[in-house]
Amino acid sequence: MIPLVDLKAQYQSLRDELAAAALRVLESGYYALGPEVEAFEGEFASYCESSGAVAVNSGTSALHLALLAAGVGPGDEVITVPFTFVATVAAIQYTGARAVFADVEPRTLTMNASELKGLITSRTKAILPVHLYGQMAEMDAILEVARAHGLTVIEDAAQAHGAEYKGRRAGSMGDFGCFSFYPSKNLGACGEGGIVVSSNPEHIRVLRMLRDWGQESKYRHVLRGFNYRMDNLQGALLRVKLRRLEQWTELRRAHAASYDAQLAGLGLVGPEALPDRRHVYHLYAIRLRNRDRLREYLRDRGVQSEVHYPIPVHRMEVWCGQDYAAGDFPVAEQAATEVLSLPLYAELRPESVNQIARLVREFVLGEGER
Ligand SMILES: *Cc1c(COP(=O)(O)O)cnc(C)c1O
Repeated sequence: MIPLVDLKAQYQSLRDELAAAALRVLESGYYALGPEVEAFEGEFASYCESSGAVAVNSGTSALHLALLAAGVGPGDEVITVPFTFVATVAAIQYTGARAVFADVEPRTLTMNASELKGLITSRTKAILPVHLYGQMAEMDAILEVARAHGLTVIEDAAQAHGAEYKGRRAGSMGDFGCFSFYPSKNLGACGEGGIVVSSNPEHIRVLRMLRDWGQESKYRHVLRGFNYRMDNLQGALLRVKLRRLEQWTELRRAHAASYDAQLAGLGLVGPEALPDRRHVYHLYAIRLRNRDRLREYLRDRGVQSEVHYPIPVHRMEVWCGQDYAAGDFPVAEQAATEVLSLPLYAELRPESVNQIARLVREFVLGEGER
């Protein structure tokens, strides 16, 4: 079976370094936050070409705290996209604010910035674009609207570690950049983790308080904070992995280029990688009408694939009630019926990419004849 991701393969390549880092923490007696977390924050902030970062216990917590630090609360509105992982919208609702949706644009499946102006009201506080699959959203246009209306921009960069837009790194363009270190993300912890990046020292100060019970100093609780601390162990393991991230990203990009070349001409276009961006391919997705049949075809031949995501968040009753109907965000809805993610990870063998591409070609050409 060729899996969608192979976390054991990554571990094998780093066994000794990870074991040494883990042992160092176990022996140190520092477990919740600590020196490894602090060092990791500095290293990850520089990786993002930003000046500050606050590590937390998940990407969802990162989004939640960035929204709170931006002053988002009950009665406010935050504009985001329906075509994302549920956490983006959940984090907005945790603050008591309402998520308002802009559809995605068909080429990249990221936020359609031309819809923003029509969505802004007196209650709008922030814009939360998602760098879906590892490609950054149209940041120039989003920032322009945000500046014109005095809105905060929070990047959901949970899938976009090291991605770039016109040479600028994900997480460094908005007021806040939120990342996840869920194990299968481009940079994954051996457990849960997340981080908020910001170059505003006041934001950093507030984020630090919010993740640790709103304490200004020990037992002086001045904000309604949370226990969102990162483990020192995860900090140490993430530092080891961060040193390999660029190498892994280039391997992901090479596999994606190989898929692109081998699948060219089959009409599977999109989402498109645009030339002004560095796509880091958290996921390699193709689009086709009979996606579910291809998924079965691949599964029957030993290849795992997955749909990211089958239900746009505006159609999830648990988060959006009856606020939206089918057809409200047609680009997102169509994408949800057509996308399919193929296996992609740094350690994937080039022969496996060839084999998967051959199966996809076989399927598409065979279906075409019927
Ligand atoms: C993974 C992910 C999150 C949430 O991160 P967790 O670490 O799982 O909490 C948020 N947004 C997007 C787009 C994600 O892919």
